[in-house]
Amino acid sequence: MEEGARSCLLQSRSSLEQDIRASYLMDHMISDGVLTGDEEDRIRSKPTRKEQAAALLELLLRKDNQAYISFYNALVRESYGDLASLLHNSLPLISPEAEKSFSDGGTRYVQAVLSEGGVPQRPVVFVSRPALVNRVREKLYRLQEPGWVTVFGMAGSGKSVLAAEAVRDHALITECFPGGVHWLSIGQLDRSDLLVRIQSLCFRLEQQSQEKDPSSSLHRSPGSLEEAKERLRFLMLRRYPRSLLILDDIWDSSVIKAFDIQCRVLLTTRDRSLADCVSGSKSEVAVESGLEEDQALEILALYVNGKPQRLPEQARSIVRECKGSPLVVSLIGALLREFPDRWAYYLHTLQQKKFKRIRKSSSYDYDALDQAMAASIQVLSDEHRELYIDLTVLEKDVKVPAKVLSVLWDLEPEEVEDVLQDFVNKSLLFRDCHHRPYLYYLHDLQLDFLAEMNRSGLESLHTKVVRQYQQRYSQGPPTSGDEECLYWFRFLTYHMAKANLTQELCSLMFSLDWVRTKAQIMGPAHLINDYVEYGAILDKERGAGPLPGVPVSERPPVGAASVP
Ligand code: ADP
Repeated sequence: MEEGARSCLLQSRSSLEQDIRASYLMDHMISDGVLTGDEEDRIRSKPTRKEQAAALLELLLRKDNQAYISFYNALVRESYGDLASLLHNSLPLISPEAEKSFSDGGTRYVQAVLSEGGVPQRPVVFVSRPALVNRVREKLYRLQEPGWVTVFGMAGSGKSVLAAEAVRDHALITECFPGGVHWLSIGQLDRSDLLVRIQSLCFRLEQQSQEKDPSSSLHRSPGSLEEAKERLRFLMLRRYPRSLLILDDIWDSSVIKAFDIQCRVLLTTRDRSLADCVSGSKSEVAVESGLEEDQALEILALYVNGKPQRLPEQARSIVRECKGSPLVVSLIGALLREFPDRWAYYLHTLQQKKFKRIRKSSSYDYDALDQAMAASIQVLSDEHRELYIDLTVLEKDVKVPAKVLSVLWDLEPEEVEDVLQDFVNKSLLFRDCHHRPYLYYLHDLQLDFLAEMNRSGLESLHTKVVRQYQQRYSQGPPTSGDEECLYWFRFLTYHMAKANLTQELCSLMFSLDWVRTKAQIMGPAHLINDYVEYGAILDKERGAGPLPGVPVSERPPVGAASVP
């Protein structure tokens, strides 16, 4: 670490020790690659907060410029604006490592601008997604007037990494945002937390502007959210008119409204429709939930310091199992770095949905994958959450039309559409727009998570599907042949089997009405498949006594060959 930075740390040491909570800061530093997991553990093992803070500072003093910058950014992000200001003047301009990491279009100038604005560095292990990055850059180039670029996608799809990467570009900054790029991590927070975040942003902006123009004065911290909004508006309009504000991970429309101050904003969110409630031009970029297989394998290879071609066979299965989710691949990669022999174990863990074992690599805000998913579901209204849980019963890779859900939820089609729109907007559900009517489906990880969460209630959820179907089609099965009708013919038996309604399954499969219509609509193969699939249940039911409602003499023999 250069002399100036070191001495500044030493001078500020006691103030830092008094206030900082090392555990909050270390996550950011690990994600920047300046602190290792072992070092984190050693610091965490100290008994008190103050001793942990002292140990972190001691360690920091032995590290390089990059670590200083990372520590400074962590202070800013965790709202220790006043402490960050103690370190600000001694921020080293550049370190050789940083220069390397900024090789993709970045320059010293870019690094300085991004570091001042608190934009996170690349993750330690990084693969580029050029098409996506270009899409975001293109939208930013077009953002000439106050307005919003929304980057949306599901949890862990790489939105924040993408947003930071998009602005790591010399031409974009000099041409469009010479006033700087200011990053604010939001996440789930209440009004008072939001006020603190905006206060610390205002503080940062005022301080930087005072350095450039010492005649400008520092104001006292705004005391209310309204006041904070006005202060920010003033700062962005008057002192930083040609800058970009990046709001990372916004959940709530009330939060976004606090930033409706006529400036240019890039925001990341799971909720596509958030920007609907604010003024100005709007554009959006969707982030696919998974990486290409090659890219995901590259991440694993980078973690274990190997070549993608040399990875064991389980690597591909891991990628396939999580559909290339950057978060999951990185979490598993980080674990493999520590335990390189555990490929089979982590594959198995993923297959068994033991998400809690896939713990964080520390670069992510959530302790484990399941918390990231649970957090998405928690923001739904109580009513919508219950409806979402009903989706647990869907089969993997099966897409359903809204009409099926209208039966399941007993709601009017328009109401169903509103609910589905909410789920899609929040990246909790996907819509296949290549079909008319649209079809809806869940990401495998979401389905696994739901199944794990509702393990004990699974039977009753399937029972609900069956009962709702029976209520709607009490006069006989549907005959329209549309997507909804096909769904019931394909999956009603599946739901009955899962609901353990074996008697009803038996009666259904021997009901002439059902068999005839299913054969007409879907052909014999599906029908036969049902008998093969549920043969054991049918045999058991038959062995247990006469089929309900069917006199013994009329009972057809069980098995595919006996189907009319
Ligand atoms: P989101 O903002 O969509 O929730 P993040 O951008 O925070 O997701 O990414 C989650 C994790 O996935 C990161 O901490 C990182 O480990 C990994 N990740 C995301 N994008 C990439 C990438 N391009 N290369 C390597 N890892 C990535």
